[in-house]
Amino acid sequence: MEEEASPATANVPREPPKIQRLEESVVNRIAAGEVIQRPVSAVKELVENSLDADSSSINVVVKDGGLKLIQVSDDGHGVRREDLPILCERHTTSKLTKYEDLFSLSSMGFRGEALASMTYVAHVTVTTITKGQIHGYRVSYRDGVMEHEPKACAAVKGTQIMVENLFYNIIARRKTLQNSSDDYGKIVDLLSRMAIHHNNVSFSCRKHGAVKADVHSVVSPSRIDSIRSVYGVSVAKNLMKVEVSSSDPSGCTFDMEGFISNSNYVAKKTILVLFINDRLVECSALKRAIEIVYAATLPKASKPFLYMSINLPREHVDINIHPTKKEVSLLNQEIIIEMIQSEVELKLRNANDTRTFQEQKVEYIQSTLTSLRSDPPVSPLLSGQKTQKIPVNKMVRTDSSDPAGRLHAFLQPKSQNLPDKVSSLSVVRSSIRQRRNPKETADLSSVQELIAGVDSCCHPGLLETVRNCTYVGMADDVFALVQYNTHLYLANVVNLSKELMYQQTLRRFAHFNAIQLSDPAPLTELILLALKEDDLDLGNEKDDDLKERIAEMNTNLLKEKAEMLEEYFSVHIDSNGKLSRLPVILDQYTPDMDRVPEFLLCLGNDVEWEDEKACFQGVSAAIGNFYAMHPPLLPNPSGDGIQFYTKRSESSQNKTDSGGDVEMEENLDQDLLSDAENAWAQREWSIQHVLFPSMRLFLKPPASMSSNGTFVKVASLEKLYKIFERC
Ligand code: ADP
Ligand code: MG
Repeated sequence: MEEEASPATANVPREPPKIQRLEESVVNRIAAGEVIQRPVSAVKELVENSLDADSSSINVVVKDGGLKLIQVSDDGHGVRREDLPILCERHTTSKLTKYEDLFSLSSMGFRGEALASMTYVAHVTVTTITKGQIHGYRVSYRDGVMEHEPKACAAVKGTQIMVENLFYNIIARRKTLQNSSDDYGKIVDLLSRMAIHHNNVSFSCRKHGAVKADVHSVVSPSRIDSIRSVYGVSVAKNLMKVEVSSSDPSGCTFDMEGFISNSNYVAKKTILVLFINDRLVECSALKRAIEIVYAATLPKASKPFLYMSINLPREHVDINIHPTKKEVSLLNQEIIIEMIQSEVELKLRNANDTRTFQEQKVEYIQSTLTSLRSDPPVSPLLSGQKTQKIPVNKMVRTDSSDPAGRLHAFLQPKSQNLPDKVSSLSVVRSSIRQRRNPKETADLSSVQELIAGVDSCCHPGLLETVRNCTYVGMADDVFALVQYNTHLYLANVVNLSKELMYQQTLRRFAHFNAIQLSDPAPLTELILLALKEDDLDLGNEKDDDLKERIAEMNTNLLKEKAEMLEEYFSVHIDSNGKLSRLPVILDQYTPDMDRVPEFLLCLGNDVEWEDEKACFQGVSAAIGNFYAMHPPLLPNPSGDGIQFYTKRSESSQNKTDSGGDVEMEENLDQDLLSDAENAWAQREWSIQHVLFPSMRLFLKPPASMSSNGTFVKVASLEKLYKIFERC
């Protein structure tokens, strides 16, 4: 075997190769390739230099996506004649002299590398004039040095830098860039971002020879005006201002101001224009954190436009972690992101009248992230009217053989005012109220007994844990990881939320606010849907008949009980057998509408209607199960579940002759996938921001939870620390 494996020579030990010092020009070219990665990086460096030179007008001209020509002209202070010889040498800068200056720097540049780098990978020509001079100078550079003495020439105020034939000597890079068409787009994007932040500077960007500029901003004291002039009216008119600041003496000091889009702004991609200490940077953690809030709050507008400017003490930012300074590292990054996230969330909820959930008079959920919230007073006219937080049009088929959208038809929420028929309903309702004073109803002894039952079953140790635990994250689809003192637990969020919803239903008995479904949903059809889902032996016609009869019977039963359901549970079923309202069990939370059919079936089948106490318990349990935070019916796309979103083979069958392997990505059902992503993001958000904070306040965990796997201790940190100590 060995003889076959490789030629004998490969095993002969080699002399160690000689270590040589690289020629400086090679070193410089390697470094240059890192600083100037694409044309847009050159533009960024040049524009930053112009900003550092106190310019008030910066104009960019680009040819061939920047490969042929990048020309940046400014009206800044210019470069002195005597500095021109070393202008493009590596490590020549007017902005930094000693290392410590890095931490008190207010300029964009500091490495003295950008211009030098450009001369190693392109032909650079500088024309510049300083104040008080009658003429300017022009000089070209190559590999860091002047190609000739500066020539006197006519010049307008400031500096013009031309970068020609970028990457002329890095063939591979030039080839890849030539094939990509979006470099000019990247440059336009960069200047758009710069323009809205530096609104005291006018920017323009055009293609060489073009009359019309693709970016054109004018100096304006109002940020919104500059956003309008760059991104257009459609963006500017849908923005809200946000501000956050913190001056925690323990170190988290920052302020942020910005603009974020509202529910009317709908786009395919999130745009986050982020400046930290006036530096254009990227921060994917912040972007993701805000996207989660949007997906949970405004799912239809879940790709927002965001402009944010964060200022921190200079010593809290390390600007020196990335060669192009594209990313920075911040002290207290997590806290800052979390504060911004919760402010954005607050803003979205408050601003969006049609979606504002009216606060109930009961205790308000307090949590670290929601404690800042101060909801606006709600007009009494809107009382009782709720709109969906989850867009029900995001609902999906529970059975792929059902036509998609079957449920949608029934459950489209409207965000407009109450339809006429509801006002007549409220008349009916007030007459019921006169008969039964709701105060008394809430004192019904059977409900009191049920609540007393909950209290007496409560496990004191678990109560302590639930009150004081910290949510760490989801461990899988059902279990959350929580920390309490020095212990880590796995907590079953389905069980916990089911119990919490059940208990809250009892506590809010007869005092619910309502979630209004705009298009009432026909009971019979929904129950039938649920029955079909249960079905194991398919296609039996007699069976179908039977199911229809069961569905009808259940509908009639629920219609009979409608008055009671409405009065005590705010589950409204109208005389046509349609469901039109559901109770709010926890503020900020709407149940998964995919579970309505199952809920109705459960009400019809499982409730003991004759005995008052058993009946209240049964309905509360059905509501508890419906509102529990089950995993969404669509498989989790972040795990193995992704397979589910691969389109069925039938659709790709036509193509099979072109080769069996159709690329996975192209074959994903993107709509379904994004529905699923939204549903999962929404749920995770609710678990963290609604379930855990509410549990801390309201849940009385029954003793059974200590032994039925709802809480499982997985580790004790003391033991873990001991293990680490040994390492
Ligand atoms: P850095 O910006 O890190 O100092 P650069 O290589 O980008 O390094 O620029 C080197 C120096 O050239 C700057 O420090 C600045 O003094 C000068 N300079 C570059 N561009 C301009 C400009 N547009 N106007 C005036 N001075 C400039
Ligand atoms: Mg610079």
